[in-house]
Amino acid sequence: MNYLKKLGPKKCRRISLAFVWIGVIMVVAGALMGKGLGTNFLLWIGLGLFVIGVVFGGVTVRCPQCGEMLVGHRPFPKVCPNCEWKIK
Ligand SMILES: [Zn+2]
Repeated sequence: MNYLKKLGPKKCRRISLAFVWIGVIMVVAGALMGKGLGTNFLLWIGLGLFVIGVVFGGVTVRCPQCGEMLVGHRPFPKVCPNCEWKIK
């Protein structure tokens, strides 16, 4: 976890968004294949990646100083809305 903290919330957000988008694309691709839910592995893996991305974002995209969650702010804040720590 220390390594992820060093990455900074911005990079963690990028990683998390990548997981979410790959997940969404796989779910859509899986849905388009029209297989039954039980055998539609692409859809389930996509869903898994989506959940991993969301959880990863929730855990790591935080202010390193006060722990304020920075997910969901649009546009991504330049300073922490709680302690005004400058986000690198
Ligand atoms: Zn803060």
